[in-house]
Formats: sequence, structure tokens, C-alpha cells
Amino acid sequence: MKRRNSTRLAGVLGWPVGHSRSPRLHGHWLQHYGIDGAYVPLPVRPEDFAEAVRLLPRMGFVGANVTVPHKEAAFRLCSLRDAAAERCGAVNMLLFDGDAIEGRNTDVFGFLENLRRGAPHWRADDGPAVLIGAGGAARAVAVGLVNAGVPELRILNRTQARAEALAALVGSTARALPWSDLPRALSGAALLVNATSLGMVGQDKLGIDIAPLPNAATVADIVYAPLETDLLAAARRRGLATVDGLGMLLYQAQPAFAAWFGTKPEVTPELRRAVLEAE
Ligand code: NAP
Repeated sequence: MKRRNSTRLAGVLGWPVGHSRSPRLHGHWLQHYGIDGAYVPLPVRPEDFAEAVRLLPRMGFVGANVTVPHKEAAFRLCSLRDAAAERCGAVNMLLFDGDAIEGRNTDVFGFLENLRRGAPHWRADDGPAVLIGAGGAARAVAVGLVNAGVPELRILNRTQARAEALAALVGSTARALPWSDLPRALSGAALLVNATSLGMVGQDKLGIDIAPLPNAATVADIVYAPLETDLLAAARRRGLATVDGLGMLLYQAQPAFAAWFGTKPEVTPELRRAVLEAE
């Protein structure tokens, strides 16, 4: 790759970061739109994170994505933050302007946009939503669903204290329920979202019984490796609408790419294939 002074640079900060699909995703768009830019993996240890971020603009970077475990540290570093970042207490995208660092959270947009595209019939006011998980990604899902206007968000998590903390973060629409209440939580729900790491390659299955879900319910998983998790397969067998997790990754990247490189990119079947080939 030839790099000129005008080449716009961006990357993804994580530790580890080798598993990230973002370099392939942004690389596909850079090539497709013929943009003089590059997007690289940036493996940075937690103790070096603040210094690395401050150095990036001086090295010609226009911005960066932030992934595990740095999203909360990134939130604290930013002098300016968008509303989604403020709501989540986490930043997944940085934009540099001189020495000023702006932080945004595009995971919220990515989750909702993928849900709306994958389940166009779904309306936030169709009924209660059930969220399983209360980690970093679950925060973006919870904020997105409450912003969208779900009438009630039922949060269940292995560690109930984290579900309670997440419910407190997003406000009175949400309530944390004990794991044993899952059948009751699913009954009457319009949407079920898995935001745990269960179902991912190398992890245990989620292994829940979705029988209490109504026939009109939609089931979404944010795990995208494999594309069809056991949860989605069970939902499909029952004839429920399903939404896989890959689109969340693709759509969260869209506003970031536009901000860094000045072109709003399209999420296409070719892009999905290119990102999946990274497996
Ligand atoms: P995280 O902060 O580490 O949270 C992990 C969540 O999974 C917690 O709720 C945790 O429960 C639960 N969990 C883990 N192992 C479990 C087990 N054995 N039994 C029950 N619950 C378990 O991780 P994250 O960043 O939120 O990521 C979660 C998943 O989302 C990952 O698979 C990640 O790849 C995926 N993700 C996808 C996208 C996308 O764009 N599609 C974006 C971000 C993340 P406890 O609180 O009890 O530990």
C-alpha cells in the first residue's frame, strides 16, 4: 500500500484486536469507493490506551474505533461526546480535530438499524422487549430499544446485579428480572434479544426454551459467529422472524466511515460476504 501525506488513516483500538472484522469491513469500503485511506488494527494494552489515543492524531489518524476493553476508558478521555455515548457511558468511535477528541457511540445506531432492516414489520410499540445479557454490548441494545420507544424492557442476566445496574442506567422503562423468571418474561414479549456471548463459537449455547414467546415475536442475536446461532435456529424452526448479529457490526461502521472518510457507505450483500470471509 502506497501512503501519501494526504492518506486518511483510521483503525481499531483493542486488546487483543486480531479477531476484529473492522479492518476488513472498512478496507472493503475504502477500495470500493476508491478512497485514499487506510484502516489498521491497533493492539493497545489498557495501561497504554490514553497515551496511544493522544498520539494518533499526531500520526495522521482522523479517528478510530474502540473495542473491548477500552470503551469506558475512551468515554473518559473525550472532551466532547454525542448523546448515545452519554447514555451508554461508553464510546466506540473517536473523531480527532487537532488535539480535541470527540467520542460517539454508533453501536446504538448499529443495533437498531440492523433490527429495523432485518425485521421491517417490528415496531417498538408492538410490546415488551426481553434483553438477555448486561455486558458492554447489552448497554447499547438497551439504550437503543428504550430510545426507540419500547413500552417495557425486561432485562435478565446470569449476574442479576449487572442487570439491575443496566436497568438503572436506562431508566424506568427497564426492569431487571431474576433468571428464573425467563418463561414469564418471554410470555407476551414482541422482541427477544440475546446480547450475551453465549452461542458464539467456542462458547456454550444459550440453551433457553423460547416456547413461551408469542408467534408474532421477533428474535435477534448480536452474536454473528456463527451467523445462525442455536437461538436463531430454534426461532426459525418455530416460524418466528429472526435477525442475525452481523448487520449490527456493519451498520455501526457506517456513520464512522462517513465521518472519517467523507462518504456514506452502503451495506451490501458483497460487504457481508467480504466480512464473513474473514473467518
Ligand atoms: P461482555 O461485556 O463481556 O458481556 C458478556 C455477557 O455475556 C454478560 O451479560 C455475561 O453475563 C454473559 N455471559 C458470558 N458468559 C456467560 C455464561 N457462561 N452464562 C451466562 N451468561 C454469560 O461482552 P460484550 O462486549 O457485551 O459482548 C457480548 C457478545 O456480543 C459477544 O459475543 C460479542 O462478540 C457480541 N457483540 C456483537 C456486536 C455486533 O456488532 N454484532 C457488537 C458487540 C458485541 P455476566 O454479567 O453474568 O458475566
